Formats: sequence, C-alpha cells, structure tokens
Amino acid sequence: MPIVNAKEMLLKATAENYAVGAFNVTNFLQMKAVVETAIEKRSPVIIQSSVTPSKFRGPDVFAAIFRTMASAAPVPICLHIDHCNEVDYCKRCADVGYTNIMIDASHHEFEENIRQTREVADYCHARNISVEGELGTVSGVEDQVVVAEDEAQLCDPDLAVEFVDKTGIDLLAPAIGTAHGVYKTKNPVLDFERLATISAKINGSGPTTPLVIHGGTGLTDETVKKLVALGGAKFNVSTELKHRLLDSTYDYLAANRDQYNPGKVDKAVLEAISGVIGKWMELLGSSGKAQ
Ligand SMILES: [Zn+2]
Repeated sequence: MPIVNAKEMLLKATAENYAVGAFNVTNFLQMKAVVETAIEKRSPVIIQSSVTPSKFRGPDVFAAIFRTMASAAPVPICLHIDHCNEVDYCKRCADVGYTNIMIDASHHEFEENIRQTREVADYCHARNISVEGELGTVSGVEDQVVVAEDEAQLCDPDLAVEFVDKTGIDLLAPAIGTAHGVYKTKNPVLDFERLATISAKINGSGPTTPLVIHGGTGLTDETVKKLVALGGAKFNVSTELKHRLLDSTYDYLAANRDQYNPGKVDKAVLEAISGVIGKWMELLGSSGKAQ
C-alpha cells in the first residue's frame, strides 16, 4: 500500500468528501515530519517538492529518500513534483520515482497547454504515474514562476471539461482566486461558485478527476472547509511550512545561542513542523482515512 500515485487516493477523497494535504518540503527533515505525522494520524498524504529544490538536491536523491521512508509506512504516500513547466523535467521526475507529476503549462495558450500536458500524461500513464494539469493561473510566487494578480485568470468551467478530455489528466488544478505566498488581505476573494460549477461538470456523476486547491496558507479554517466541501481533494500547503521551519530554527537558535548540537535544532524543528502538518490533516478531514 505505502507508495502510490495520487489518483486512487484522491478519487477516494473526492467520493468521501475530504482532502489530502500535499505538503511542500525542501529537505529530509521535513519529509520525515510529513511521514511520521501521517502515520500518527493514520492519514494518506502527498509529499511535494518544487522544481528548484528538487534540482538542487537531485530528483533521484529526493525520490530515493522518499521511497525508503514511504515503503516502511503503513499509510499511502505519494511524491509529487509541483508546478513543473518543463516537459523534459516532468519526464525525468517520472523516471526516477516521483509518483505524481504536475505539468504547469498554464501560462501558454490553451492549445499549447493541452499539447504539453497531453505529452506528459501519455508518458506518465505508461509508467503508472498520475498527472496534474493547471488551467487558469494562480497568482503569487511559486518557485521561479511569478504571476501578478492582474495577470492571474480564473479557470473557465467549459474549457476545464475540454482540457480534461483532451489531455487525459488525472487531477485538475483550476484557478479560482487562491494565491501562492502570503495573502495580502485577510479575506482574499475566492470564486466558490466557479469551483462548484467545475466540480459539478467534471465530477458530478461520480468522481473521475479530483480537483486541486493551490495556495492553502493563510486561508481561514472556514474557507478551507468550504473548498473541501465543494470538491477540493488535494490541498497544497507550502508557505506555512517554510515559515514554520525557519521561525522554529531562529527561535531555537536565539534561545540556545551557546549550544552547538545540530541534533537538538532538528528535534525542535521536527516537532514544530509536525504540529502544522497534524493541524492540516485534521482540518482537511484526512485523519483516520488511511484504511
Ligand atoms: Zn501551486
């Protein structure tokens, strides 16, 4: 059971109306926190990495650590590459052991987005790897991709149906107004109705293509629950984890400036990150779902 692609896991989530957290990590310690918390919460989980840290560590190194940790875990775990806008790197990640690939060709014209996404989907499906595509653009900074708010476009529900049909993707990330990074306002304007329409058009007669919500950090609990109720089955959490990682490191070092035991810093950071991950698993309703 442990190492899976995202499709089965998220079809179940869509059918049972909860979401699985996709937690963005840059290192081994964060990966350990995700896996251990998933086991403790008996939750399915997705570990995701952005392209830059994946390249810096080496995708094969990332995947090898993931495989070693996940194969011993009694819960389903998927390794996802997030917002990859290079077809060749998507294929490389598929070759070395990532189990869900996001090809983000959303900045291209519709037809070119379809072409690139289809190419990655065909390649991955031959290897039992699931694929996520994006339609519309999510604003904010994601890795090296910067999208200004006024450039961000929301996902057209009819085009979403066509996009899914023509690309054969397993998961769709529709832009509905969530953003990457830290929200500038306390109440970002999200288009719930649009998400409901897309959900109905795509998964209305039974789940076929689970929906992904990007930009989880900074949304209120109420908003998160509403997005899940409307069909969000994969929920990406990145910024909050990065902040927690760095804040807990700073806090520990500031309070223990005379200590030179890196293991103690790791322990403090692991505990802090695990707390955030556990909170999200409860909020998304995935706790206890790894049966
Ligand atoms: Zn994203």
